[in-house]
Amino acid sequence: CGIVGCVLKNDKVAPILLDSISKLEYRGYDSVGLATAFDGKINLKKDEGQIKKVDDKLNLADMPGNYGIAHVRWATHGDPSRENSHPHLNSSCTIAVVHNGIIENYLAIKEDLQAEGYEFKSGTDTEVIPHLLDKFIGEGLDLEKAVRKVIGVIEGAYAIAAICVDEPNKVVATRKDSPLIVGIGEDEYFVASDSPAILKYTNNIAYLEEGEIVILTEDGVTFKDANDKVMKKDIDVLDWS
Ligand code: GLU
Repeated sequence: CGIVGCVLKNDKVAPILLDSISKLEYRGYDSVGLATAFDGKINLKKDEGQIKKVDDKLNLADMPGNYGIAHVRWATHGDPSRENSHPHLNSSCTIAVVHNGIIENYLAIKEDLQAEGYEFKSGTDTEVIPHLLDKFIGEGLDLEKAVRKVIGVIEGAYAIAAICVDEPNKVVATRKDSPLIVGIGEDEYFVASDSPAILKYTNNIAYLEEGEIVILTEDGVTFKDANDKVMKKDIDVLDWS
């Protein structure tokens, strides 16, 4: 029910992801998880339970990498469990995804993917997304184009953020019927379900509309409209108080 994605220029991202996602615990608190990428590998820590409890057990902030994603869950498909916690990965563990919302047509997509040999580890609707990204990237698309193709396939409500080890220092995100804001700092760039997650780091906020995709890199933020054209967005400067 709450997602965060972040790319930092010169710093470790896990402590900031943990701080930011903690500010969204009001949106969902049956599970929590973080994924960062470093040195060609996804690092993943996740479990069911409140953030404090999971952090005491797993030390969530202790992961390398300067880009990553985080999630607090309010389960809709699949009981609260470690397997069903986000982020969800593709089978070769090169892609990680967090999702807020419900993929209404996940069952048909899942059956198609299973028929193609994709193996599912969770009972969630969300897990179709990393496998679809895996399939589309395998067909030659980059992460951004693969996300664009995924939103042509899935139906329902979603805010999604994804990372891929083959495209370092990048978070790609999109939304439909679930909120997602973009935070534009000095050397730190965010997506989040709500502004409390990022106000400590920046008060420059843009609002993503349906069909738009945002790409965070260590050099800044790029917005693409529903026709895949680079676009300018108005930036709101929120009051710190
Ligand atoms: N439908 C997804 C799940 O059950 C996401 C739920 C959420 O928004 O937290 O895992």
